[in-house]
Amino acid sequence: MSGDFECDMLIRDALVFDGSGEDPVRADVAVAGDRIVQVGPDLSLSRREAIDASGYALAPGFIDVHTHDDAAAMARDTILPKLSQGVTTVVTGNCGISLGPTPLRRREVPVPPLDLIATAEEYRYESFGDFLDALRLAGPAVNVAPLVGHTVLRARAVDDLTGPASADEIAAMRDDLDAALRQGAIGLSTGLAYPPAKATATDELLALVTDVANAGRLWTTHMRDERTGVVSAVAETIDIARRSGARTLISHHKCCGEAAFGLSRTTLAMIDAARQEIRLDVDVYPYTASSTVLIDSFARDSRTVTVSWSDPHPEMTGRDLKDVAADWGVDPSTALERLTPGGAIYHQMDDDDLERILAWPPSLVGSDGLPRDRRPHPRLWGAFPRVLGRYVRDRSLLTLSSAVAKMTGQTAAVLGLSDRGKIKVGAAADLVLFDPARIRDAANYDTPTAPAEGILRVYVNGRIAFMPDADVTTNTGTVLSA
Ligand SMILES: [Zn+2]
Repeated sequence: MSGDFECDMLIRDALVFDGSGEDPVRADVAVAGDRIVQVGPDLSLSRREAIDASGYALAPGFIDVHTHDDAAAMARDTILPKLSQGVTTVVTGNCGISLGPTPLRRREVPVPPLDLIATAEEYRYESFGDFLDALRLAGPAVNVAPLVGHTVLRARAVDDLTGPASADEIAAMRDDLDAALRQGAIGLSTGLAYPPAKATATDELLALVTDVANAGRLWTTHMRDERTGVVSAVAETIDIARRSGARTLISHHKCCGEAAFGLSRTTLAMIDAARQEIRLDVDVYPYTASSTVLIDSFARDSRTVTVSWSDPHPEMTGRDLKDVAADWGVDPSTALERLTPGGAIYHQMDDDDLERILAWPPSLVGSDGLPRDRRPHPRLWGAFPRVLGRYVRDRSLLTLSSAVAKMTGQTAAVLGLSDRGKIKVGAAADLVLFDPARIRDAANYDTPTAPAEGILRVYVNGRIAFMPDADVTTNTGTVLSA
């Protein structure tokens, strides 16, 4: 800085939620370069730009702890669903699926669910580091904290994905994992519920997660079972976390199918008890429908199933699976098979479980949005404002400060991002200004790509990154590699 500028931007008289979960305070926040430089009442600093924020809430930019934005983060248009919600950092590579290194070493096409995030042509990065280089070159509009996916490593190393890996195959996966961790992966994700990883045996899982622990990184897991087997899946997760010593995050915790409703009482009690000894956390999205590739067992546990994409039958996008089956004169399982490869939205959870998990103080908010889907689950455009509108303001399930903490400070602590997720002197100036009286998700199952309302300004590393109805084109995100 030079001359008499003491800061670049002064946001005045905001209701500041600092990300800690403490009550908000009225304050000014000063930004210089990419940092927050002062926080306090009535700051008198000369500045280039002043913003009157009276009546509005200022929070750290939201951290979407559970995304599939590996490819989407490369371009502004495809990451707009997140920016427009106030998200300034995305954790990519979840559920065993990451864009690097390429899974196409012994197969021509990505096996489902690897096709959720990219086509064969897009899976072109030889190493995890190549993917990060491409991301840096593209200049992301949000910060990216990248995980490497176990299913990708498995597809590279294992011939028969329906069986357990051999000792040699496990060794090959460990080499790839080691490389990815050295190249900057913040951790490893697993997607044990999906067919190409379901056969993962304890020795394979423990070997890889122990490597993650030894590197001081994070293990996130889409557990083996989120239906009636969810209690044993949590038990397995706790066992691996304890034996490996890895920091562990259970992804999108939920109880699917009517027979599993209510099991979150048991799972949260188990997780609470385990947290006395180990670092174990949970993220959740605020909806009672899930979404992923077409899987018959998921469809059988659902009240309704909506087709979100289908390669062989794109004309069926947005339709109910039962109606498609009736049109074709077949049963839903046969219809599902004909629609594959494809994806769906599965209405299969109970409000009570969702609210119990969301209200549980340690839980974090993640979207699990699927940016490639032709007709996406509305969580892609609405997850964060939905928590702040529906669950904080309308239903009083949470206080606004605790909800903000679940999207910012608590998340940064789990990820080990020491200078993100807080409004404090020295922290990165990732900020979101919003109207707490107006914030709401506008995306729903009928209009799934409607931008949220009530988000006023979003800053990434001190620069404006999003304003509704304004043509902002600066991309100031960074890769937050380990
Ligand atoms: Zn998942």
